Amino acid sequence: AKGFRVDRPAWAPEGVDMTQASPARMYDALLGGSHNFEIDRKAAEMGKKLVPDLPRLALSNRAFLRRAVRYLSDAGIRQFLDIGSGIPTAGNVHEVAQQIDPRARVLYADIDPVAVTQAGTILIGNDFAAAVQADLRKPDELLDLAARSGLIDLSEPVGLLLVAVLHLVRDDEQPRELVARLRDAMPAGSYVAISHLTSAQRPEDAAGLEAQSANDSHTGLRFRDRAAITAMFDGWEMIEPGVVELPLWHPESDRDLHEAPGRSLGLAGVGRKV
Ligand code: SAM
Repeated sequence: AKGFRVDRPAWAPEGVDMTQASPARMYDALLGGSHNFEIDRKAAEMGKKLVPDLPRLALSNRAFLRRAVRYLSDAGIRQFLDIGSGIPTAGNVHEVAQQIDPRARVLYADIDPVAVTQAGTILIGNDFAAAVQADLRKPDELLDLAARSGLIDLSEPVGLLLVAVLHLVRDDEQPRELVARLRDAMPAGSYVAISHLTSAQRPEDAAGLEAQSANDSHTGLRFRDRAAITAMFDGWEMIEPGVVELPLWHPESDRDLHEAPGRSLGLAGVGRKV
């Protein structure tokens, strides 16, 4: 008998593996986006069975990203390097930054071809933003691409965004050293914004999701403790209030409280290179 065949939708780039869930598309599914496959939706549903408020975590993370970009824009940052940028969804970095300054420059970098293709599609006609396929675990190549993009000038302060991506990097791939390598390439006055899944608040839910993710996507998720996440800011001066639960980083209104304080599955912070 013929196996079940799924046609590749028009938005999906050729060659994309539709039989394996990807973190980018699962996250898109959790956010209610439309650039995901059956296998991604299934994985997202399994996660929700374990932790029903998982979609709130995704919203909470997006809200942190928006607030961090506004904060950095207000601090004068006019170029953003967004690594692990994901599939475009509400409140993309260029939208937030270019609302403050239409000439703010944004380079999106992601390892996932669907994320890069979608970002490229929505950026047609935008002279100040682009998307490239790049791997955070190869920081030198990534920095080279950034410099050659014409959008990122490494002699000027950069807003480095590592939002919900470092928990996809394994310990033996040395996430802390990767952040340090990027930091070393940037001038004083640059900022980094990091958000990261954590076991700090809800260790059992974190362990459950971590175990489940080991089966359903290429990479798996790592819920790290507060000390490991704080260590990623080595060499950056922490902006108040430091590393905190996602909804507690500079909340602007009650609408930012997607997750109840004390219950967030993510920690976040912003640091400045001095
Ligand atoms: N930053 C966005 C946000 O917070 O809304 C998207 C986060 S999404 C959960 C994580 C993204 O990181 C995915 O799009 C995934 O493809 C990307 N990613 C995972 N490993 C990566 C790597 N080694 N280099 C670049 N991107 C990576």
